[in-house]
Amino acid sequence: MSNLDPENWEHIRALGHRMLDDMLNNIRTVAQKPVWQPPPASVRTLFQTASLPQTGADLEALYQQFIEHVVPYAVGNRHPRFMGWVHGGGTAQGMLADMLAAGLNANVGGRNHIPVDIEHMVIRWVTQIFHFPSTTTGLLVSGSSMANFIAILTACRAIAGAEVRQSGLSGRHLVGYACESAHGCIARSFDMAGLGIQALRRVKTDNHFRMDIAGLKQMITADRAQGLEPFILIGTAGTVNVGAIDPLEALADIAAEEKLWFHIDGAFGAMAILSAQHAPLLQGIERADSLAFDFHKWLQVPYDAGCVLIRHPEIQAKTFAQSLDYLSREDRGLAALAGEAPWFCDLGPELSRGFRALKVWFALAGFGTEALGAVIARSCQVAHYLEAQVQTLPWLELMAPVVLNIVCFRVVVPQVKDLDHFNAELVKDLHESGMAAPSTTKIRGHVVIRVAIVNHRTTEQDIDILLETLHNLARTRTKRQKHQ
Ligand SMILES: *Cc1c(COP(=O)(O)O)cnc(C)c1O
Repeated sequence: MSNLDPENWEHIRALGHRMLDDMLNNIRTVAQKPVWQPPPASVRTLFQTASLPQTGADLEALYQQFIEHVVPYAVGNRHPRFMGWVHGGGTAQGMLADMLAAGLNANVGGRNHIPVDIEHMVIRWVTQIFHFPSTTTGLLVSGSSMANFIAILTACRAIAGAEVRQSGLSGRHLVGYACESAHGCIARSFDMAGLGIQALRRVKTDNHFRMDIAGLKQMITADRAQGLEPFILIGTAGTVNVGAIDPLEALADIAAEEKLWFHIDGAFGAMAILSAQHAPLLQGIERADSLAFDFHKWLQVPYDAGCVLIRHPEIQAKTFAQSLDYLSREDRGLAALAGEAPWFCDLGPELSRGFRALKVWFALAGFGTEALGAVIARSCQVAHYLEAQVQTLPWLELMAPVVLNIVCFRVVVPQVKDLDHFNAELVKDLHESGMAAPSTTKIRGHVVIRVAIVNHRTTEQDIDILLETLHNLARTRTKRQKHQ
């Protein structure tokens, strides 16, 4: 063998077509299988003990392993009754786009080629979706964790000055604010940016789980009085716990008054702007200095794809570019700029970057913003159907208001004293039943069942199946407790 290309192209073509057919069928029939099943110990052992291969195996044999040992034991987020955490369902079209991107194997860190232009195009499109100025810069990244980190670091450089890149923060005590239910990646960003986790002040929430404005103002005043230097205000558009949206307009006002950078973590919730009915909830998002959000959640683009937008031109490049003449590449040839814009490697920490933009382009252009908005509106409709059931059925209790697509509730049985434990066990029972997979979370100290409708395949019928299964499991568990 002289290189790694297939020895027999006809053989690989036939196998490739079979893989494609198998996977399309698999996606098409995903609802007929369990949502999730525990990986058997035997399968786990297989991978834990596999030794480093010195000689190659047949691709066909590897594919067989994938079909037998991987596919049945995946996380299950393609299934309409996967309702845990906030996971997108993916699409067949997205799978094909990812295959094409891998086939092209473009490195979109920079240089003069059209995949760079495609990423600029999708950034321009989302800039329009959120009514940001046309000079906004942005970057496709692995997800909102990375997007939030890039935004927070950029804010830090914008406020503290670019010289901190050379000298570090040396004695300055920068602090920022987010609501107490902000995503964990915000604190991690403060950690990674060298600001320290304590520099993130957690503002308490009101009874709608939104940032309490009076509380925020008091914290800023107290921090300034102590000699600390507030630099960023972080609003969440769609908290993971309950889907709450901070009062973005009020936050924008305070950020302007206090001269703070206004960042929004809109990981999944920001995309609700595509639904005309829900867009008003996000009013104020267009005033943010930066925005982080995902394509792989509500927009159903296959993992992974997130995005960061920075309103102010140049500051993102000033935060990351390693040379100040980042705009003066070669005048022509492969090492020239693709258009006027900087290379993407100058807008974030990564040099080599895959062609994520292709699957995002195919999703935005293939479905159009109207159909994607309809998927989002539909998820909320299904969530409200569940909310109505919870309010009707005497054995269920609603634990948080439903704003978007997340419903938090619990099963209440009079003879059960420890409802936290009972509900936590019920969710594990549900997972093992393979019928539905919500997650749990804690709301005001109580363990609750948390259903997030993100998958475009989920319908009211799936909610009925969830509740029927939950009812049976709760009965079985209550009976068992009585007999102990
Ligand atoms: C999912 C989520 C994140 C993290 O995004 P990833 O894409 O998983 O990195 C951050 N914030 C919120 C509100 C989220 O829902």
